[in-house]
Amino acid sequence: MKFRTAAGSEIALEKKQLDDFKAQLRGGVLSPGEPEYDEARSVWNAAIDRRPAMIVRCLGTQDVIATVKFAREHRVSLSIKGGGHNIAGLAVRDGAIMLDMSLARGVWVDPSAHVARAQAGCLLGDVDRETQLHGLAAPLGFVSNTGIAGLTLGGGFGYLTRRFGWTCDSVRSMDVVTADARIVRASEAENSDLYWALRGGGGNFGVVTSFEYELHAVGPEILGGAIAWAAEHTPRVLEQFRKLMSSAPPELTCVAVLRKAPPAPWLAPAIHGKDMVAVFVCYSGPIEEGQRLIAPLKALGATAGDVVQRRTYVSQQSLLDATQPKGRRYYWKSEYLPGHSPELLAAAAEHAARSVSPHSAIIVFPMDGPLNRLPPDHSAVGNRDARSLVNITASWDRLADDAANVEWARAAWRDLRRFSTGGTYVNMLTDEEGDERIRAAYGTNYERLAKVKASWDPDNVFHVNKNVRPS
Ligand SMILES: Cc1cc2nc3c(=O)[nH]c(=O)nc-3n(C[C@H](O)[C@H](O)[C@H](O)COP(=O)(O)OP(=O)(O)OC[C@H]3O[C@@H](n4cnc5c(N)ncnc54)[C@H](O)[C@@H]3O)c2cc1C
Repeated sequence: MKFRTAAGSEIALEKKQLDDFKAQLRGGVLSPGEPEYDEARSVWNAAIDRRPAMIVRCLGTQDVIATVKFAREHRVSLSIKGGGHNIAGLAVRDGAIMLDMSLARGVWVDPSAHVARAQAGCLLGDVDRETQLHGLAAPLGFVSNTGIAGLTLGGGFGYLTRRFGWTCDSVRSMDVVTADARIVRASEAENSDLYWALRGGGGNFGVVTSFEYELHAVGPEILGGAIAWAAEHTPRVLEQFRKLMSSAPPELTCVAVLRKAPPAPWLAPAIHGKDMVAVFVCYSGPIEEGQRLIAPLKALGATAGDVVQRRTYVSQQSLLDATQPKGRRYYWKSEYLPGHSPELLAAAAEHAARSVSPHSAIIVFPMDGPLNRLPPDHSAVGNRDARSLVNITASWDRLADDAANVEWARAAWRDLRRFSTGGTYVNMLTDEEGDERIRAAYGTNYERLAKVKASWDPDNVFHVNKNVRPS
């Protein structure tokens, strides 16, 4: 059977070698042509269509150890799949072994200690559902079927970031299988250099088998939902959004979305397919206080839809899911922002109106607060000067429309880049964004990350990621 090495050359392994490997696994193995192979190799972004030589359906740590040993011994390229949501398709590589963690989705909550341990195949919704049973939450992202592994290892932000910082700021420890196939714990007390690097450094240092999150009291009910307006109201809506977020308490996060209105039941039919602005709202303090805070938004009137109401935090966490389905083609460009100037918001609205697909959007996510108060080298994620993020999200259906959609996103980015902090989010880098952008994502933490890489993975076993290399 043929595999690819990290360098891309071809290598053939014998049946006996493969049989010996398979005999060590609890989970199964999928090869091209087998019934579940295509589903297991597929990722969220349909523009990524890659064929691993073999998929290991990992059921536990022993499967991870056996796979890392095997890949290393035979110099076969190894990729790791968590939720498969990475825009660059970093879970999958042609000719590689894919270590598919997506079957390992256990979550154990200790409500008295305010911690949860979650296996690395969990989706965000798995953790939210279990922790919310106790009115607790880890600060995770905006779309419930994203993987916790990729999100947490790259930083992670969502509706609770203004209260609690990056997702990785709430990680207490991780269990890791290293490049030499040992099991170690990474925490402040044990292997602190690895703990530092994993919180932001992506999948560069090992296979994380579980995450221990510190939990915070949130919900189970919050004030949340979204309000939308037709494009003619965009300037005054964005000005109100800017004012609100410049003085909002940490419990309030509003996200501005500029796009064409989808045919969603909560939006007036007259606006479907036309340009709109929407503000997604999440207030996780006392409901009445939230109502008072967002009254100026509501007072703008003339809405095309308003579903801001008392709701569960779990339902809030999946509000955006339907807008980002698996199986469309996607291309993103993102930048961290020092804040929201009127010029930035106006330019974002102009570019959104030029989009060539009804599914595309420009989204502005405020994230200021606790993450800004920690030193830049608190963990590898850095970007402690980011107060917001703009994501230009091109999303379309047909291969034939690739070029037009990618060019729309790039043109918007070339212009909006002038508002950037200079930093970018490693988890939103696309396939073609290489060394220069990876360095922009890590800034002054890059050299230290490279040293930790040299110490924990000198042979670059973990290379299917936004790869950090010793200089
Ligand atoms: C619809 C959508 C919404 C999003 N929203 C947010 C958001 O609100 N906030 C935010 O911060 N980000 C968001 N993201 C970005 C997201 O953080 C990244 O796409 C992230 O990579 C997804 O993690 P995953 O496990 O699904 O990725 P995968 O594609 O499975 O993996 C991505 C990378 O992580 C590595 N990896 C995966 N599992 C492990 C493991 N167990 N051990 C070591 N390395 C591993 C892989 O090697 C790979 O390099 C969103 C993405 C999408 C598609």
